[in-house]
Amino acid sequence: MNRIKWFIPLSFSLITILWLAAENVSNISWSYFPIRNVATQYSGILAISAMSIIMLLALRLSSLEKILNGLDKSYRLHKWLGISSLVIAIVHWFWAKGTKYMVGLGWLDKPTRAGMFADTDFSVIEGIFRSQRHFAEFLGEWGFYLLILLIVISLAKTIRYPKFLNTHKLMSLVYLLFVFHTIILTKFSYWHQPIGLVVGLLITAGSWAAILSLFGKIGDKNKVQGKVDNFHFYEGNQVLDLTIDTGKQWKGHQSGQFVFLKFNGEEPHPFSIASVQNKNGCIRFQIKAIGDFTKRLKNNLNINDAVLIEGPYGYFNFKSDTEHQIWIAGGIGIAAFTAQMEALAQEPQSSEINLFYCTQCPDVEFIQYINELAEQAKINLHLWDTNKQGFLTAKEIYKYVVSWKNSDVWFCGPSDFSKKLQQDFGQLGLNKSKFHYELFEMR
Ligand SMILES: Cc1cc2nc3c(=O)[nH]c(=O)nc-3n(C[C@H](O)[C@H](O)[C@H](O)COP(=O)(O)OP(=O)(O)OC[C@H]3O[C@@H](n4cnc5c(N)ncnc54)[C@H](O)[C@@H]3O)c2cc1C
Repeated sequence: MNRIKWFIPLSFSLITILWLAAENVSNISWSYFPIRNVATQYSGILAISAMSIIMLLALRLSSLEKILNGLDKSYRLHKWLGISSLVIAIVHWFWAKGTKYMVGLGWLDKPTRAGMFADTDFSVIEGIFRSQRHFAEFLGEWGFYLLILLIVISLAKTIRYPKFLNTHKLMSLVYLLFVFHTIILTKFSYWHQPIGLVVGLLITAGSWAAILSLFGKIGDKNKVQGKVDNFHFYEGNQVLDLTIDTGKQWKGHQSGQFVFLKFNGEEPHPFSIASVQNKNGCIRFQIKAIGDFTKRLKNNLNINDAVLIEGPYGYFNFKSDTEHQIWIAGGIGIAAFTAQMEALAQEPQSSEINLFYCTQCPDVEFIQYINELAEQAKINLHLWDTNKQGFLTAKEIYKYVVSWKNSDVWFCGPSDFSKKLQQDFGQLGLNKSKFHYELFEMR
């Protein structure tokens, strides 16, 4: 989490330092239009840098995932960079376009252009760039309006995920408009400075990412074709236990990782791998019927149906330097723990693990399966029926686990539950770095 928190201020500071090295701000005369010129350049440089990083994060690169400690964290950064770039783009729009409106309203006097570049002898390339300025401004302005619309759609949770996903792909197109806008309108001298080199690299990488996204090529290297091998539906908690045969193509995964599953005619959806790596190439999932796709799935499935699997992703890896672990599963969050339980059943370890499985709809058969797995893995299972016992709190856990202060906490479940537990544990004195979590949400 801390890495995400620091990423935005650090990267913005770095860009600012490089920009200041290219722009002699001490020489600016303190009147509106000279300030407007540098402010437009600065906000434009910051916005396109942030957007380029956003595009790169959308590629699901394992190198970036490793740095950011998981794809869920990487998407969180993607989202916050998106919000930051919107704010900066609004500031940029104000200086660029708002100024023109103020001139139109007579609030500002436009400086005369005549004589501004009178003695300037532009190079051929700069001359070409200058000839495209109006077109670049036009694209930038309309790209900005589209950007606002698309970001509002992304943030409005009332808009359903498939619609959000389809419109979100348009972001790549908008980004490419901004790249053109940046190339043409960035102060020409910047391109000979370190800031120009950094922005040049960022927009090259970002454009490559945008093209991959537009052609649906993201994650292609991590895709494997599989088929439905077996499935079983637990009525009590509405969980589908699904086994997929990858025909031994699966290159392997670690407990706690997840993949994107794509069935014919459906969007890819992320699911944790609920089984340990095995030799027959089969991988299992536990899928809770909560929405359109997951409710449809159980009725539409047939043995041997084709499934495209993309992954594995994620760093919910149970790595710990202490002998004590507390696992907390909120509802279907239990799926993130079952693979590790299978692994521990095969290779027992000396660590003390307490698993709290919180459920609002206990299913007798499913609980029996979790219970057996916990026994084999030598894990203390605490079944928490939320209907009868209310929400699980850190204080309750504290009662059951004497060693809680020396434990690493691994949580998977709803984000509100995670926030509340982090807060409670923090108040009780648990170090923040000891709380690890995976959230089953990406938006
Ligand atoms: C890392 C991760 C691991 C997950 N593991 C599991 C698991 O093991 N078992 C399980 O039951 N659920 C898991 N989920 C949640 C699961 O992906 C969603 O419940 C499912 O996609 C809902 O789809 P829907 O159309 O039925 O529901 P909807 O009602 O359309 O969506 C419900 C919520 O699911 C999310 N969602 C929907 N479609 C997508 C999509 N295509 N991509 C990403 N998120 C989407 C959105 O946040 C949405 O608000 C996981 C999610 C993540 C991010």
